Amino acid sequence: MPEVKPEMTASDRYDIAIIGAGPAGMAAAVIASARGASVILLDDKPRSGGQIYRNVDASPLDKPQVLGPDYLRGAELTAAFAACSARYLPATQVWHLGDNGEILCSRNGATLRLTARQILVATGAMERPFPIPGWQLPGVMSAGSAQVMLKSDGLVHDNPVFAGTGPLLYLIVAQYLRLGVPVAAVVDTTPLANYFSAMRYALGAVREPAMLLKGVGLLNEIRKAGVPVYRGAQGLEVIGNQSASGLRFQSGGQQHEIVAEQVFLHQGVIPNLNFTRALGLEQHWNPGQLCWQPALDQWGQSSVAVISVAGDASGIVGADAAERNGRLSALNMLARLEKISLAERDQQASADLQALASLNAFRPFVDQLYRPLDSHRIPDNPDTVVCRCEEKTLGQLRAGFEMGAREPNQLKSLTRCGMGPCQGRMCGHTVSELLAKWRDEPVENVGYYRLRSPMRLLRLAEMSNFTELSARDALVDTLATEVKP
Ligand SMILES: Cc1cc2nc3c(=O)[nH]c(=O)nc-3n(C[C@H](O)[C@H](O)[C@H](O)COP(=O)(O)OP(=O)(O)OC[C@H]3O[C@@H](n4cnc5c(N)ncnc54)[C@H](O)[C@@H]3O)c2cc1C
Repeated sequence: MPEVKPEMTASDRYDIAIIGAGPAGMAAAVIASARGASVILLDDKPRSGGQIYRNVDASPLDKPQVLGPDYLRGAELTAAFAACSARYLPATQVWHLGDNGEILCSRNGATLRLTARQILVATGAMERPFPIPGWQLPGVMSAGSAQVMLKSDGLVHDNPVFAGTGPLLYLIVAQYLRLGVPVAAVVDTTPLANYFSAMRYALGAVREPAMLLKGVGLLNEIRKAGVPVYRGAQGLEVIGNQSASGLRFQSGGQQHEIVAEQVFLHQGVIPNLNFTRALGLEQHWNPGQLCWQPALDQWGQSSVAVISVAGDASGIVGADAAERNGRLSALNMLARLEKISLAERDQQASADLQALASLNAFRPFVDQLYRPLDSHRIPDNPDTVVCRCEEKTLGQLRAGFEMGAREPNQLKSLTRCGMGPCQGRMCGHTVSELLAKWRDEPVENVGYYRLRSPMRLLRLAEMSNFTELSARDALVDTLATEVKP
């Protein structure tokens, strides 16, 4: 068993620990390590890149170009990250962050403990749940999971139905089509009214013409491929008993049924809340993005002194903004650590702050255009499963509400919803919105599940195999698989 160091001193602490090797985390590590800070970055994936740049340096595809120029661009950032002096621990699942700078994580079957003077949470986003009848059946996956299989292992499914709304959905369909994979249909749930309501934000949108053109280009690509596209679809229902056999929905005033063994659903992404909630950071409900997010200043500094948050974990910003957020947080942490002056921070930050002002002005247009239908977020069929881990239906949750549960934790105690291995990630937002509807109050008043460490299932053997990791240590044997990127 590795030696446990009984007393850790101040010099055993890293200056900065970063959780997540996506654009935000990598950009922060590059800047912070270049200014003499001792930096460690931990990520649960075997390679750096995060969601967007997954496997960009080791794509299983013969022609990774099919994934698009935005994907290939990531190689520049992963190379800069590989060349920087930050210590990198891939395949490392962080399961506890403390407001005292403590970090606990699992790696190679062992538990590591380390401490840092500043922590940056850059854990990204997850896809918004899509609680429709049948979404729990085998054969139904999120479109993002389909993309993960493609980027990680080059795996695709023939003739799937893609259903939902948002730029990521169209991107993944286009990636399938560029590979020549047949797609049965695209069932677009973007409400037709959104095209008008989004016009309110058109002035902000025109500040980023390249982004607008990118979106239009993807839609054209899908149209030209001749895939059947059903617009303004609603009332989605996955058909099937033991597994999915198709998708039923209404579009253009008619009922449709598409036969397919694979249904890929997507209606946008929401911040990964586990750490920001468990740390007790102040949170608020973002009514434009329909999600909870931590309260932060422009540097990503949270209400807890040692914790900053950057990228999609801070609110949905997109990859370009995530990278810029990461740099801003790094500069601010460097200033807090007195590695640079406030004047230097401000001077170094000005280009990113300016670019972010434009990107942030663009965002409300996308948020409004791809705002998912209420009925696809807040189910009304009593048989629809809301908590997939514990298989709890809307009817069972409603019964809990009628028994007196008024907020998510009471509902959890009464019904077990949110008690499964995903720790409520897949039902938390739905439960907040359902309770708000039943109470006839804003979601802000309802709150969210109380989350606690550990953030993943742990084996006792893993906990007993315990190593303290000091900023002064050379890598110990259990960490020898460190690779960059
Ligand atoms: C499934 C999915 C696919 C996406 N694909 C695209 C795309 O193709 N194009 C696009 O423009 N946008 C895509 N996005 C949106 C994308 O998240 C952002 O644009 C961008 O990647 C955000 O960067 P980030 O650095 O904030 O987080 P991410 O890139 O998500 O990086 C976060 C990293 O933190 C790691 N992490 C999370 N929790 C832990 C933990 N407990 N311990 C250790 N590591 C942890 C994650 O594994 C990940 O590597 C996708 C989002 C999702 C959810």
